[in-house]
Amino acid sequence: MDGFDRARSEMVDEQLRARGITDERVLSAMGEVPRHEFVPAALIRDAYSDHPLPIGDGQTISQPYVVALMLESAQIGPDDVVLDIGTGSGYAAAVIARLARRVVSVERIPALAESARDRLGSPTVSNVTVLDGDGRLGAPAEAPFDVIVVAAATPSISDAWRDQLRPGGRLVAPIGRPSYGQTLTCCVKRPDGALDCSALGGVAFVPLIGG
Ligand code: SAH
Repeated sequence: MDGFDRARSEMVDEQLRARGITDERVLSAMGEVPRHEFVPAALIRDAYSDHPLPIGDGQTISQPYVVALMLESAQIGPDDVVLDIGTGSGYAAAVIARLARRVVSVERIPALAESARDRLGSPTVSNVTVLDGDGRLGAPAEAPFDVIVVAAATPSISDAWRDQLRPGGRLVAPIGRPSYGQTLTCCVKRPDGALDCSALGGVAFVPLIGG
């Protein structure tokens, strides 16, 4: 076990299990993905700390607990196809790749998409596709999705996301105005197409950017 392995296993026990994350698939995926390979070299010692970290271009890699809470709530099954909006470093996509059959991840900043593709390019992660684009439109050519995970603050749930979600599918997103904090929200799509949503708690994400 090296220092990173130890830090990662402490992260799982002290930040995730101790705060009530119980989904063993999520815990073991986060216990395996080398988060330190997804942060800038200058911050590598902080990779397993209990907070978000800057990844360049004004963006952040989310706090480990928030990633775990989102993925546990999304109830991702091994056959699921997942849309991950806001690839950022690619860390969440790498964790989801261990829980799902396939991950489609959309990023609007080409430089971030490119470096996430490099990190995710190893043969061990062959089920992630990183697309350049505006995640507010979803990924129509790849729909429908069993799960949609949104990693940036959005004022509302776009029609595109609802339309691209399979009935019974789950959507997890931080909903609210960027500068005022948001409510992490989990919605399930009913057979009639409507969404049943519940609040998971307060969070602060970078905004989902338009234009
Ligand atoms: N899941 C990421 C963290 C994401 S931070 C990780 O694990 O590292 C939010 C990301 O959303 C940023 O990379 C930002 O560039 C991206 N983003 C913001 N607006 C977007 C949009 N409209 N479409 C796609 N990505 C967007």
